[in-house]
Amino acid sequence: MGINKDLTEGTAFMSENDEFSVNERPTMDTPDTPTIGITSGWAKSENTATGDYPVDFKYTETRSLIKILDTEGPVANFKEHWLTEKTEGRRTYACLGAGCPLCNVLGNKPTSKHKFNIINLSVNPFMHQVMTVSSVRLYEAMQQQDSGDYGPLNKAYWTISRSGQKQLTTYQFLPVKARDLMEDFGVNEEDVLKFIKEVTPYTAEQLVQRSSLKELQDLAKELL
Ligand SMILES: [Zn+2]
Repeated sequence: MGINKDLTEGTAFMSENDEFSVNERPTMDTPDTPTIGITSGWAKSENTATGDYPVDFKYTETRSLIKILDTEGPVANFKEHWLTEKTEGRRTYACLGAGCPLCNVLGNKPTSKHKFNIINLSVNPFMHQVMTVSSVRLYEAMQQQDSGDYGPLNKAYWTISRSGQKQLTTYQFLPVKARDLMEDFGVNEEDVLKFIKEVTPYTAEQLVQRSSLKELQDLAKELL
């Protein structure tokens, strides 16, 4: 985008010059060649997309040590539809809220989802991942910890584990003090802080795929 904008501004500036000097034209045409700007622009955004694709954190029965990066609660809160009627392709769609065809036409009930940028410190090397919280109880536990003695969430370290299956799944979310990192987990806090410096947290826009009203209208019609 930045490149295109510069080209446009450059062109406007150059055509003013053209009035004074026709000789300027050939040199002025060079930066205006569209393929130059487009090629570098596409190449750049393609690299970002593939090199930076969000990896989902997987809850396990053994506790994982994590660091939460988001400073003000989840980076993304949204409601998600799970379409069991759909037999192929994508089955999850973000709810559009009031006027959502999946709610209004299909009568499908969306569930609340909350996403956090985390560093998984239980893997070697550390990994920037995205933790999705769908459990109301886990979400409430995190909220409580956020305003508790160990909060806010991005200050301490945490362990998280899961036990049980489906509806009976429970989560354990516990604080860990920085000074216990080495003794209890063999993790050097300086390495963590160094790693965090290199990480760019994902934005809500990057993490939640929004569909257009038209797309969901068509989908609802198709599945009705
Ligand atoms: Zn909806």
